Amino acid sequence: MATSILIVEDEPEIRELLNFSLVRAGFNVAEAATGEMALQHLDNKLPDILIVDWMLPGMSGVELAKRLRRDELTNKLPLLMLTARSEETDLLESFESGIDDYMTKPFSPRELVARIKALLRRTGVPENDTVESSGIRIDLVSHRVTIAGEDINIGPTEYRLLELLMRNPDRVFERDQLLDRVWGRSTYIETRTVDVHILRLRKVLKPFGLDNTVQTVRSVGYRFTPSS
Ligand code: CA
Repeated sequence: MATSILIVEDEPEIRELLNFSLVRAGFNVAEAATGEMALQHLDNKLPDILIVDWMLPGMSGVELAKRLRRDELTNKLPLLMLTARSEETDLLESFESGIDDYMTKPFSPRELVARIKALLRRTGVPENDTVESSGIRIDLVSHRVTIAGEDINIGPTEYRLLELLMRNPDRVFERDQLLDRVWGRSTYIETRTVDVHILRLRKVLKPFGLDNTVQTVRSVGYRFTPSS
């Protein structure tokens, strides 16, 4: 996938403007009208970045940000908040709740795109459409994987596992974390399913001598370690 953005905004016109500008800039966009809907969405699928309006019916944008920061699954999600001018005096509170950047309405879509790109750079989300390591190249737009230039046949779950692991080299993921991130928190499947798909992923990498890049960390989980 291209870099994905979840917009949380209750006003349809602003949502539409955001969607239009961000899709045109090459992002993959999803929308939620309330904080509650955003939380539901995040249980299914994690975006690369969140844009949250401060003033939402029900749970406010700040409250949403605080909840996301308390949750291990979402505490590192880059978050840009939209505010109205009158709210600026309260901005300090928002930064304490873990907001990475903010923009005041009305905003220029072009500046918003520039700020999002800067935020992605700062937070280490791949800005271009590929992830590459150890001769393995993932095209995040077409979902194609090539190894040493050769096209690889890979299942959708193995693809998502490989993408997550390669985006976080040397980081150990527990099975539960992989379930949450690859399958989504709203799916209930056994943690052993993770092992099955890790085995399949290694099988895909084995002909290239790269199966040992997906390492088992005993009684913890798995990690991707680039081959030297
Ligand atoms: Ca609003």
